[in-house]
Amino acid sequence: MTRAESEPIDCRTAVQRLWDYLDGELDAVRLAEVTAHVERCAACSEHMQFARTFLSALSASRAEVADATALRARVVSALQREGFSSTLHVR
Ligand SMILES: [Zn+2]
Repeated sequence: MTRAESEPIDCRTAVQRLWDYLDGELDAVRLAEVTAHVERCAACSEHMQFARTFLSALSASRAEVADATALRARVVSALQREGFSSTLHVR
């Protein structure tokens, strides 16, 4: 069966998809799954807002940011301290 409907996902999956979501790299179904989860889950909503704020700050100051990868890693570390240590994939 190949229904193109979103399935409920857990926090681990939502966080794993966080950066892809913000980068616009998710397909429509996965995008809907993450969106639906974040709308229901206060914890993931907070993380999403944090990451989104970070990314907009990053793009606003891109000329000054020599090493975006290091900055992203710093944000990932912050998320890990909040209990997502085993779920994040650092790119
Ligand atoms: Zn969640």
